[in-house]
Amino acid sequence: MALPIVIAPNRILTRPCRRVEKRELGEIRHLFEQMRETMQDIGVGLAAPQVGKGIRFFIAMNPETEEVRGYINPQITAVSSETHVAREGCLSIPGWVADVERHLAIILKYQDLDFQEHEQRFDGFMARVLQHEFDHLNGVLLFERAVNGMIPEEDEPEEVGEEGELSPAAERRRKRRERLGAMQAQLHPGEPTQPAGPVPGPEPQSGA
Ligand SMILES: [Zn+2]
Repeated sequence: MALPIVIAPNRILTRPCRRVEKRELGEIRHLFEQMRETMQDIGVGLAAPQVGKGIRFFIAMNPETEEVRGYINPQITAVSSETHVAREGCLSIPGWVADVERHLAIILKYQDLDFQEHEQRFDGFMARVLQHEFDHLNGVLLFERAVNGMIPEEDEPEEVGEEGELSPAAERRRKRRERLGAMQAQLHPGEPTQPAGPVPGPEPQSGA
């Protein structure tokens, strides 16, 4: 079952997450399936705090193979000195995008859904997605990374393919808008769709 996505501002999105213990694997595997369904067709990465869980776990899709994997307790152990600025969106900040500088390559150490440890190099788009999701586990959002401030999504040119079809990114954007509208209609039946307001968490905010 798809889960509701936590929308900023919300304290769960700005608090550092805690590590996952091996005994939690059963719950994590279940959460993985729910998060995969939540992200389906609307994004390429989703971190646990975005579905209300303050744990060090995220999922990401390899855009070439479309395979979705879960990453438990990830750590970035090395980064390329070379960086690249590109536009990013976030499922928790609907309607906005930002230009963000990221390392072109990273080495990520993480545990998989069997709690097996991996240390793996990622490049380009995948490295960018993983750095974005890793930020979520430390409570860091696009607002803090944006090199030119937040930009309304509407300002982006539509990417259209040769056959006149939407690019995968534009198609995901269209579906995100649809899904968000449906989500808000469920939360506030009968009310017009509007940006979600702040939902303060029970604990005081810690960290940056
Ligand atoms: Zn995000």
